[in-house]
Amino acid sequence: MPDPARSYVVRTFGCQMNEHDSERIAGLLEADGLRRADEVDEADVIVLNTCCIRENADNRLYGTLGHLKALKRRRPDLQIVVGGCLAQKDRDEIRRRAPHVDVVFGTHNVGRAAELVRWAAEHGPVVEILEATARDDAEAFPSALPARRETDHAAWVTIQIGCDNTCAFCIVPSVRGPEVSRPFGELVDEVRALAASGVSEVTLLGQNVNSYGRDLTRGRRRLDGDAAPGDDADLDVALCGPGWAADRRIRPLFADLLRAVGAVEGIERVRFTSPHPKDLRSETIAAMADTPAVCEHLHLPLQSGSDAVLAAMHRGYTAERFLERLAAARAAVDDLAVSTDIIVGFPGETEADFTATLEVAAEARFESAFTFVFSPRPGTEAAELVDRFVDHEVAVDRYERLRTVVERSALAANRERLGRLEEVVVEGPSKRDERLVTGRTRRNTLVHFPTERPLRAGTLASVRVTDAAAHHLSGELVEILRPPRHRPRIPVSAG
Ligand code: SF4
Repeated sequence: MPDPARSYVVRTFGCQMNEHDSERIAGLLEADGLRRADEVDEADVIVLNTCCIRENADNRLYGTLGHLKALKRRRPDLQIVVGGCLAQKDRDEIRRRAPHVDVVFGTHNVGRAAELVRWAAEHGPVVEILEATARDDAEAFPSALPARRETDHAAWVTIQIGCDNTCAFCIVPSVRGPEVSRPFGELVDEVRALAASGVSEVTLLGQNVNSYGRDLTRGRRRLDGDAAPGDDADLDVALCGPGWAADRRIRPLFADLLRAVGAVEGIERVRFTSPHPKDLRSETIAAMADTPAVCEHLHLPLQSGSDAVLAAMHRGYTAERFLERLAAARAAVDDLAVSTDIIVGFPGETEADFTATLEVAAEARFESAFTFVFSPRPGTEAAELVDRFVDHEVAVDRYERLRTVVERSALAANRERLGRLEEVVVEGPSKRDERLVTGRTRRNTLVHFPTERPLRAGTLASVRVTDAAAHHLSGELVEILRPPRHRPRIPVSAG
């Protein structure tokens, strides 16, 4: 039996997929009897959920493990656990460089996290990494596992794992495997269950959400060969889950999912990340436009504005095609805000390539952008292009110039909100100023505003915008539109 006094902490390095996995890991550990600790120093089990997409992931992980070494020396019962993409990629390397690590698990066996922790406590260190091909799809979707969600009013829902693309800078396909979509009916059921528990906002997660369902078609064709005539209904259930009928279309599109999730009673905001520009279909844009719950925000990663660089990255679109898709989305979805990701200094990027990126960024008028200086990820095609690497100082200079262009359009877009009323969902007290509350608009803009009394996360408020900066708005509370839909968590103590 696990010791009920034992506690855990999960620290996440990385993207939203990782944060979602972390909620599942926390849920599994709590289901196994552990309780959450607030600080690393107080925890008996420390889980580091890693990501190898972001810059310096290795350095951050090994730096953190270095700090934990002294803690482990003082408290030999402490268990240190490393999971996620970097663990999947580096495998035994982690234990070689940090022998004080007790458990290493990968991206395809998140569901075994608690079991491995228990096993290691009894038998000693364990490394368990499964290949993408070995994953059991029922287990591969973390949503099927218990979760300890970080927020009560909002939830992430994984709709797809893996990626079929081959972007030259990205490690995801090799660590997460090919795309696998979760059955349509199962997803809608999960969102219904979340709404019933008081969740009013869901974010649909996948590496390439627009291709949701593509593998269900492939699977259907494969199965069709063995199917008897008249078995269509059974095939639909096997591939798409109850809730999908082939008389509508041979397989569900992402657009169908947006409409179905947006129609769930109690769900007021639907977000999604990330769609690939080459797969942004007109059906998706139409579903965004006519599903009231789908927020007026689109994250569309440009990566570069140069056709030569886009080709070298294997992105599958040109700058012109990107701008066309963007224009179609802006034309169809009223008041749409668009954010993006851009990499500067990709191997071989010339000054002319970079100028093209500046021009596309200016034309696109992004409301916000995550901009990165290229850094090679071991195991990717781009990391091999050493003789084409851009001088770091040149890349940093380009990064600053791009930031100026993006901040100019972000500030202009935010200034257009001055004087308007925004529907804001409260996230909690401002991290910078405790007299302020922070919330998010439907367009995904942060808004800070003062209140006389604290407002619970999930409260829906109407806020008038009084000031605008590049990365946030400031405002004044006009009225509370409704309290949170979920019940507050009441701490329970035994004894
Ligand atoms: S679409 Fe490209 S960048 Fe996105 S996860 Fe797939 S390979 Fe990586």
